[in-house]
Amino acid sequence: MFLIDVLTIFPGMFSGILNESILKRAIKAGVVNVKLHNIRDYSKDKHHKVDDRPFGGGPGMVMKIEPIYDAIKDVLKGRKKSIPRIILLSPQGRALTQDFAEELSKNRHLILICGHYEGVDERVREYLITDEVSIGDYVLTGGELAAMVLIDTVVRLLPGALGDKDSAKSESFSNGLLEYPQYTRPADFMGKRVPDVLSSGNHKIIEKWRREEATKKTLLNRPDLIKT
Ligand code: SAM
Repeated sequence: MFLIDVLTIFPGMFSGILNESILKRAIKAGVVNVKLHNIRDYSKDKHHKVDDRPFGGGPGMVMKIEPIYDAIKDVLKGRKKSIPRIILLSPQGRALTQDFAEELSKNRHLILICGHYEGVDERVREYLITDEVSIGDYVLTGGELAAMVLIDTVVRLLPGALGDKDSAKSESFSNGLLEYPQYTRPADFMGKRVPDVLSSGNHKIIEKWRREEATKKTLLNRPDLIKT
């Protein structure tokens, strides 16, 4: 089973995504196990403090390395088999793309570290992690939302996670293009009709139409995806 350990100071934030929809089903079906660990539980401070002022001055607080180190050590205790990817969620990291998510889905075990405040002590980056991952060029308050995006993106790629095993294959980015336009009933909504080709029953023509529409959409919305 695929295992994801999440180190966070706000484990409660995850209850929504883990108890709904595909993630809930994947957990129930034994496709994935997501374990939440409160970094505060590893603080040796009597007030469970996990942050401190930055050396050199400056605004805000920085998350300390010791509780994160102890949490990772605890998660790895007794596990000899697979070497996990230890991922720090960070706006400074490698961009999370579909290809990168596919790469991560080939592992058996991910450990996700959610930062907060001004971020984490640089030594976490230098000595404790294998990857630093960003979900986009903007700054979130904490790594929890980014971890949820990563979990959702990776889990839906795991065998048995999606109801229809072919769903992920035709989706945007999986073949270098955005997905073709999708329609469902009614065929006519206030005079706006579904393209006739989709009701033709001719799968070859439908396939060709979808490829052309996917290419058009990609050229219009994301020309950068079309390699020259
Ligand atoms: N001071 C940091 C900087 O300028 O790079 C930003 C810290 S941010 C307020 C707090 C935490 O949110 C980060 O440590 C990281 O875990 C998370 N975070 C913020 N933006 C993110 C992004 N785009 N992708 C992934 N994680 C992000």
